[in-house]
Amino acid sequence: MLLFLAPGVAQAVTADSPSERLVAFAARIAGDEARTRIVLDFDRAPVIETRYIANPDRIVIDLPATAFAFAEADLKATGLFSDIRYGSMDATSARLVLTAARPARLAMADIRPNEDGNGYRLVLDAELVPEQEFAALVSGQAWAAPQTDAATTATVPVAAAAADDFVIAIDAGHGGIDAGATGASTKTSEKDITLAFAKILNEKLADLPGIRAVMTRDTDKFLSLSERVLIARQKGADLLISLHADTLRQADIRGATVYTISDRASDHMAAQLAERENFSDTIGGVELPTETEPEVGDILLDLTRRETQAFSIAMAQAVVGSFEGQISLINNPHRHAGFRVLQAPDVPSVLLELGFLSNKEDEKLLLDPVWREKVAGLLVEAIKNYRQPQFANGG
Ligand SMILES: [Zn+2]
Repeated sequence: MLLFLAPGVAQAVTADSPSERLVAFAARIAGDEARTRIVLDFDRAPVIETRYIANPDRIVIDLPATAFAFAEADLKATGLFSDIRYGSMDATSARLVLTAARPARLAMADIRPNEDGNGYRLVLDAELVPEQEFAALVSGQAWAAPQTDAATTATVPVAAAAADDFVIAIDAGHGGIDAGATGASTKTSEKDITLAFAKILNEKLADLPGIRAVMTRDTDKFLSLSERVLIARQKGADLLISLHADTLRQADIRGATVYTISDRASDHMAAQLAERENFSDTIGGVELPTETEPEVGDILLDLTRRETQAFSIAMAQAVVGSFEGQISLINNPHRHAGFRVLQAPDVPSVLLELGFLSNKEDEKLLLDPVWREKVAGLLVEAIKNYRQPQFANGG
């Protein structure tokens, strides 16, 4: 809740009160492909931390919780930068991610009071540097790079599930700085649609005996793809459902799709979607794990993966079976591609595109509370049907 206080009245704020957030009230960017300056005006002086990440080359500026109140058009990618993202990471932090078209470094990152007494400005001067210099900047700080790779290796200890509960990890796609797709007519963010739907599904599952649902996120915060996998594994999930509502270039395509993981995409559309979903980590300023060859001869891990894959496919089929004739599905509604959020070796995982925000009819439905209830109900049926044969097989 927002409280409006008369001027002069002291504000009592708690650590996670929204009024504690800094306000970035203005922004500007100017420059060319050799030098680019970005200026952000804040109501108070921010404490910042900067980092460099390669592949793609990015400059990441970490900020305290910040409300970005300037117009989007005021900070459009220009000069050295091919992409600029900013937004919240969680309740206490925010981030600015500058993707460089060519290697660049900050020659200056300075915070100074505005001459007119109205707040502080952060001045970032970026300049073009040779590739080796950028590489040196990245490796010079490598010791501090966050571990994002742990989630997907089989060696991470997995929490034992409480009692015999069947644990379902509900993953609301995107969040925070990564808003996901945008609705064609209402401009609604995918991250809000996935979170609203995840909450409905979570409530429905809470009513069922023997089932425990956990959400990877229940607020508007950023999670890397491997963090999502890690949360599912740490909670002892027996199933992960990642929820999405993306856009496609072909606005006439509509309906739900269920994806499972595969090295080779089932089709061009699936490949494109996986690429876009995997881009989430780039948007959020996360360092991608270097591709490692799978360990040759790890027969146990291989068996686990194969069994997990069979369960993932069974779940996808259960979803299609439950949706068929009830809501619209695209042609060949079970598809597969290399989605990073689905790569837990030991947690059956599906990614569900509820519909496409690029299609006006789908967009209307995605925002319709009645439709959401119906689809969540159908998904619960699919989960029940998926569970049955497993138990019949003693799994
Ligand atoms: Zn998505």
